[in-house]
Amino acid sequence: MPKRPCLICGVLSNDSRCPAHQRRRSTMERSRRAQAVAAHRAQHGNWCPGWQRDAHAADDLTADHVTPVAAGGSESGPLQCLCRSCNSRKRDSIERG
Ligand SMILES: [Zn+2]
Ligand SMILES: [Zn+2]
Repeated sequence: MPKRPCLICGVLSNDSRCPAHQRRRSTMERSRRAQAVAAHRAQHGNWCPGWQRDAHAADDLTADHVTPVAAGGSESGPLQCLCRSCNSRKRDSIERG
């Protein structure tokens, strides 16, 4: 498997981040995300606002950074709820540039 430069520091490793920059989510960060999803559900129900597509029903909502950490966002920055597939599309498009 070819080595890839770390998104944060550029050091080559087997992943998109070197061991020093692996995504490590603290318990606090996980519960912050869970709360963001719960608040979104309470307000909108199982509804994804959509990423580069129309809003749609979704029961696999996840919360992620409005500006991903890989794109210069802060780990404690604001969160946005999207379904899993919209979230991963958003992440892919931002991390690929
Ligand atoms: Zn790194
Ligand atoms: Zn979606």
